[in-house]
Amino acid sequence: MTTHQRATGTVTGEIPEADIQVLSTLNKDGSRRWMRPRLSKGRFLMRRRITAYALMLLFMVLPYVRIGGKPTLLFDLPNREFTFFGTTFYPTDTLLLALLLLAIFVAIFLLTALFGRVWCGWACPQTVYMEYLYRPVERFIEGKHYRSGGRTPLHPIRVVAKYAVFALLSLYLAHTFLAYFVGVDELATWVRQSPFEHPAAFLVMAGTTGLMLLDFCCFREQVCTLMCPYGRLQSVLIDERSLIISYDPKRGEPRGKLRRRQAGDRQVASVAGECIDCHLCVATCPTGIDLRDGLQMECIGCAQCIDACDTVMDKVGRARGLIRYSSQEAIETGRSRLLRPRVLVYPLILAIVLGLFGLTLAGRGSAEVSFLRERSTPYRVLDSGEVLNIVQMSLRNRSEQAREFEISVIREDAAVGETERISLAPGESDVVGLRIVLPRSAFEQGRAGVAIRVTDDEGETRQLEHHVLGPLFGGPSQPSAAPEQQESGT
Ligand code: SF4
Ligand code: SF4
Repeated sequence: MTTHQRATGTVTGEIPEADIQVLSTLNKDGSRRWMRPRLSKGRFLMRRRITAYALMLLFMVLPYVRIGGKPTLLFDLPNREFTFFGTTFYPTDTLLLALLLLAIFVAIFLLTALFGRVWCGWACPQTVYMEYLYRPVERFIEGKHYRSGGRTPLHPIRVVAKYAVFALLSLYLAHTFLAYFVGVDELATWVRQSPFEHPAAFLVMAGTTGLMLLDFCCFREQVCTLMCPYGRLQSVLIDERSLIISYDPKRGEPRGKLRRRQAGDRQVASVAGECIDCHLCVATCPTGIDLRDGLQMECIGCAQCIDACDTVMDKVGRARGLIRYSSQEAIETGRSRLLRPRVLVYPLILAIVLGLFGLTLAGRGSAEVSFLRERSTPYRVLDSGEVLNIVQMSLRNRSEQAREFEISVIREDAAVGETERISLAPGESDVVGLRIVLPRSAFEQGRAGVAIRVTDDEGETRQLEHHVLGPLFGGPSQPSAAPEQQESGT
């Protein structure tokens, strides 16, 4: 990747101009260069529009779609639960969540190795909403001011109208976004009730709307070029065979202005290269870069420059594709090879991770059990000389149906203490206190092992080993200061 480097060496007023153009979105004096990318019509604009509006629709309706009575996607942060296509993951599903995250990362690596920043240009919400919602609104309301690149004045009424529409869009988007975190039912309650009844919810909503406004009114392409970690990783994720949007310098250089002469009814350039240096590819770029300087991190792969250049090539009677989807290798050597180690290794890792995920998910029982830390005296020696432990156990029904669970404590195949029964709705959890009475002789070094068996009403059984505390063998018959019982998960 190249860095923008253009010598200026001049001084404007009291602000010295930089010798190096570090960012495409900065003027030479360091001030923000406000982007007003020109709309370039063409085949990619049409395809991206269809994709963008389909994604917006999906984003809008997904919170309302339920699978097996559950939301398709719900990130319930307060309860630390995550529902993904009808399956709910709980805080103890660490392995499953880790595998899912790993699979997502590997899939992103693979996608990037094959198709470069296709996600950024075609599907990222930042690009989709900026280029297909906020930008068209801005273009429409600002009219001549936008088309002139900000050089003609903008009537204050248009400014107010633009920000009013932006605020409404952000408000709506913030509501939709929050539906993924609180669910549509909770969101409807927030909307219907007065902010005074839900001050915290109101502040969350106002804050989210404010952040959206700040993003789409102010930060815009800076999110892609400066803030997004995925953008920063491009230099390691793509290689010379990844499909990227490339300018073909072999065809284009030496570039030169079109010297007009009539050839039939077509205008042709008389310079050797095909690039007529019209700058339309730069004018249409939402991040303001000149792709002819080489692949740059700021390129989000939006393909607007392809449409712009194809239109120019059509006009001057030359073949399309001076800027096109290609790889660095194909541009340099004319050969394009898809296969290389990383596109074989990534799918392999992905298949392994997804396989492990599927196996772990399938082996996940209906009962999620964890033992709670005992804070009081860990055991009591009864008058009979036996040792009583009360074990606090948290039980969650993670199946999709209501279940009754039977809990018994087993030692050497005989039940110790009473069998407990508990009914739980799907996803519901409760704490059960298990009374475990053991003879003193059961304890060695102050510990005795028991098995806790949990059986649901469909006969699915889970058995967990657990240790209870007691006096050292032959030790005092009164409660002793044994070490605090530790939590043991499943
Ligand atoms: S749009 Fe095409 S012809 Fe015009 S400057 Fe860009 S690469 Fe050259
Ligand atoms: S260089 Fe082309 S593909 Fe890259 S961001 Fe600019 S317009 Fe989009």
